[in-house]
Amino acid sequence: MISSEVHLSQEALSHNLRLYRKLLGPETKITAVVKSNAYGHGLLPIAEMALEAGADLLGVNALEEAILLRNHFPNAIVLIMGSIPMLTERSHLLADERYWVMVSEIAEIEALCQLNPRPKIHLKLNTGMSRLGQSEPNWESFASELKKRSLLLDGIATHFASTEDFTEHSFSMRQLTKFQNGISIFAKYGYTNLLRHCASSASAMLFPEARMDMIRLGISMYGLWPSLETKLSLSMMGKDIGMLQPVLTWKTRIQHIQDLKAGEFVGYGSTFKTTYPTKLAVLPVGYYEGLDRKLSNNGYVLIKGERARILGRICMNMTMVEITHIPNVHIGDEVIVIGKSQDESVSADDHATWSGTINYEVVTSILDQFPRIKTK
Ligand SMILES: *Cc1c(COP(=O)(O)O)cnc(C)c1O
Repeated sequence: MISSEVHLSQEALSHNLRLYRKLLGPETKITAVVKSNAYGHGLLPIAEMALEAGADLLGVNALEEAILLRNHFPNAIVLIMGSIPMLTERSHLLADERYWVMVSEIAEIEALCQLNPRPKIHLKLNTGMSRLGQSEPNWESFASELKKRSLLLDGIATHFASTEDFTEHSFSMRQLTKFQNGISIFAKYGYTNLLRHCASSASAMLFPEARMDMIRLGISMYGLWPSLETKLSLSMMGKDIGMLQPVLTWKTRIQHIQDLKAGEFVGYGSTFKTTYPTKLAVLPVGYYEGLDRKLSNNGYVLIKGERARILGRICMNMTMVEITHIPNVHIGDEVIVIGKSQDESVSADDHATWSGTINYEVVTSILDQFPRIKTK
């Protein structure tokens, strides 16, 4: 699908990783989270860029993503963070000491312990997210059962539920205390020296105690803030980590140009009516390509450093934008859907505001089939 190109900046990604590296002690590892096609940025190019920038591990959700990474990066350590359906039946696929697998069940740990070579086993604890992981009342009996069966653990982990949503962090602090309690329960049963990790972008930025032995860095590596609340929290704490630089630019080209008289309609449902002679450009991207339909009559792209607002409804594969005010626009001219053009910029955060979602969803929605092009 060549109606767009997604350009990726190595410089920006390296810069973002460096900002976090500066926060961390020398022993703390960074997992570059590249799940979901690297947050829509492109799995293989981003994995390569993250390793180039000095990431210690690559983090994915699914086994299939891990296998794809293994085929391209034979030496990379890959952390599988999501649950693996039918793990006990498919455990042979995990016989690789450079796979680190986060698991929640005894049966999974038992299956992984029998493998040779054996992947690293990280037990997930639920401390408040209530998604994966053993819950607190079970920790003591779980640890005792593991010990009884002589099963091995290499790491212990949890995940914060709401650091991104608030500037008041007592819930996250309670999660952290629970996690520390969990670590000491497992230590009591002989599971000492486990690699401890719980922090993602927001919590790693805000809570020094949460950085522990490893952080799992997603959204910030791509140069996007986890949320406005995270930004506010940081400044309320009197801290500053520096500017994140967006890694991605989404470009397309003008497919067609229309000259309309006053009083003509644009698009499905005729939701836009011109009130003056209007020139519009047709772009070959729509909601299938990842431009949220809620941006209909609500949002803009950049052409020659100017804002070109979206007119009418976004179609499945096309979008109309106004260019009346922009001189010398031609078919084939470059259009910035997300990124910078001269003094103007349009960010994933702008898209998120316009469509009522989060920047995570905006970037993961960009069509996987577009070419991803690495730049300096
Ligand atoms: C996606 C994910 C992360 C990364 O979160 P960001 O907010 O993007 O940094 C970390 N840990 C787990 C378990 C995840 O699923």
